[in-house]
Amino acid sequence: MSRVPSLGGMLFAAVLVWWPGSIASAQTLDQPHSDLESGIDPSIQPGDDFFAYANGSWLRATEIPAGKERWNARSEIGELTRRQVLRLLDDAGAEPVGSVARKVADFRAAYLNEAAIEARGIAPLKPFLDSIDQVPDKAALTRLLGRGLRADVDPLNWGVYRSSQLLGLSVEPGIHGEKTYVAFLLQGGLGLPDREYYVSTEPRMQALRTSYQKYIGRLLLLAGFDRADQRAEAVMALETALAQAEATREASANDHNADNLWTRADFARQAPGMDWSAFFAAAGLARQETFVAWQPTAVTGVAALVGSQPLERWKDYLRARVIDAFADVLPRAFVDPALAMRSAVTNQSEPSPRAQRALEVTQVAMSDALGRMYAERYFPAEQKARVEAIVANVIAAFRQRVEAATWMSPGSRTVALAKLKTLYFGIGYPEQRQDYSDLIVDSADPVSNLRRVADRNYRRAVARLGEPVDMTEWWIAPQTVGAVLVFQQNAYNFPAALLQAPKFDPTASDAANYGAIGAIVGHEVSHFVDMLGAEWDAENRMRHWWTPEDMTRFQTAADALVNQFSGYHPLPDLAINGKLTQTENIADLAGLAAAFDAYRKTLGSRANDRAYLRQQDREFFIGFARSWRSKIREEALRTQVATDGHAPEKYRIATVRNIDAWYDAFDVQPGQRLYLEPKARVRVW
Ligand SMILES: [Zn+2]
Repeated sequence: MSRVPSLGGMLFAAVLVWWPGSIASAQTLDQPHSDLESGIDPSIQPGDDFFAYANGSWLRATEIPAGKERWNARSEIGELTRRQVLRLLDDAGAEPVGSVARKVADFRAAYLNEAAIEARGIAPLKPFLDSIDQVPDKAALTRLLGRGLRADVDPLNWGVYRSSQLLGLSVEPGIHGEKTYVAFLLQGGLGLPDREYYVSTEPRMQALRTSYQKYIGRLLLLAGFDRADQRAEAVMALETALAQAEATREASANDHNADNLWTRADFARQAPGMDWSAFFAAAGLARQETFVAWQPTAVTGVAALVGSQPLERWKDYLRARVIDAFADVLPRAFVDPALAMRSAVTNQSEPSPRAQRALEVTQVAMSDALGRMYAERYFPAEQKARVEAIVANVIAAFRQRVEAATWMSPGSRTVALAKLKTLYFGIGYPEQRQDYSDLIVDSADPVSNLRRVADRNYRRAVARLGEPVDMTEWWIAPQTVGAVLVFQQNAYNFPAALLQAPKFDPTASDAANYGAIGAIVGHEVSHFVDMLGAEWDAENRMRHWWTPEDMTRFQTAADALVNQFSGYHPLPDLAINGKLTQTENIADLAGLAAAFDAYRKTLGSRANDRAYLRQQDREFFIGFARSWRSKIREEALRTQVATDGHAPEKYRIATVRNIDAWYDAFDVQPGQRLYLEPKARVRVW
């Protein structure tokens, strides 16, 4: 995976530059403190179980909600963010008509406006259905397919490998450090989630296929088509043929598919059956000479099927696809079977309520506009500045660790330092605000809103072709509780939503925040030069730059940490897999150590006051432990230990035992469970 969705923050690359040893604006350490020490459990020795000690009152007061497998800092932030976004949307309904906020509110209102949806019936689909009816031959079909191309895939950032349409377009940076955007074409056009659903002989899949064909027949009947069952059978046959030509999920997930670069001549030669010039012209791509055919067999398959299958079959397929795609914003008669079909596919007994679906669709469709509104209200400039200063200082501290790393060869060190120097660490929200002035949103017509948003996204994608790559472009919305690492851009996006307590707590001291968000920043920064970052060089090319000797020496340093983690037993019969979790454990330790260095530097001469220093150090480590507070049920714990590259939070926190200052701050003594002899404390970076 080239991008690792994980935790993390952002920066103005053009404004802030990280030089070795530079410390961003001096921060006052005397901000009002949230009382971290009052949350501890004094009955526990920090040297025995630091996680339980530091999170004592939270662990006592918190229960995992019914129906959830776990509850942690991120869940708390997720729930808070959900309420924040709902409040924002409710308030936006009172904004002036035509304002961006009002457009966002109207988008959701249209989705919720069931009276208007019932009243309009299927009329909103008429333009689509008419354009299909009017197709007289394969040439016109090809043009219609071209016009239907959508920018709804994203192979390298989020691993979205299939389109709602026959083919999907993504315009994003390639894997060889290309200076301009690359056009990617990906497979799509199936009503069921992927190829397996059409070809698998498993009984469940066979049953789903039967249900799906019936469902398609019902949609066509409701939309007024005769011979609906026969048409559904033909649609199923065509989708099955498309599925057979598709790449599997595993084959799709290979980033080296980016090397399947096809010229226009390749399309004509390798994918006969369709007039590709006409297709690309209709798609507004007449001037684009090359595309990455991410799944070449699918491209070949689509063209062959356009050539071989009867026109009427294609037309029924397109009718079924458009009705299905918009079913949730058609009258109740369409919604109910669509939800039942979705529940069957996802194995959920209850479909989510309409309000929830409206929220989810609005979040995706209007993500940038909503994100700006979110950040304006919930992530003020002073918080952004404070996080940016932490980021700059942690990167500077990590840079010093790279310079001092004994296992790294000089050539590799040069690459690592070059990557850190140009790293863009985005905090809160993207640098550029999208212009929504061209988007019309009608509070009573969700079908048209969805179509206009899709058209707009497509136009924006096509407009970037030939343009230089914007290294500060964001791939996650500010109101998303997550973060994303973008190796192609040597960049990290840290959304505002995640920058909330206890990950970043504006009411807490800087020391506590360096322990919390600072350690996360350090963790993510380390990924740019660790085993993950080793696959991407300083020119943003997918090219391994560690030497074999680097790897050997790094592994020797890492083995001690592997052994340390393999010694943890969350349950009597369950041990942590030190090898499985080694990459993340190394990043945790590197992040905590760099954050600690950075925090200590901000103390300046106050570090000479021993009592003050001890208090601040305690806040640093408690802030770290608090940001990973969590509870998990036993079954989920077993699954996590077996499959997740991240160790359970309690053990991630225990890595404090590798930092000397933790021993002083909490009077940790030999004989306590987390105590390590100084020579047994691990340092990788
Ligand atoms: Zn990580």
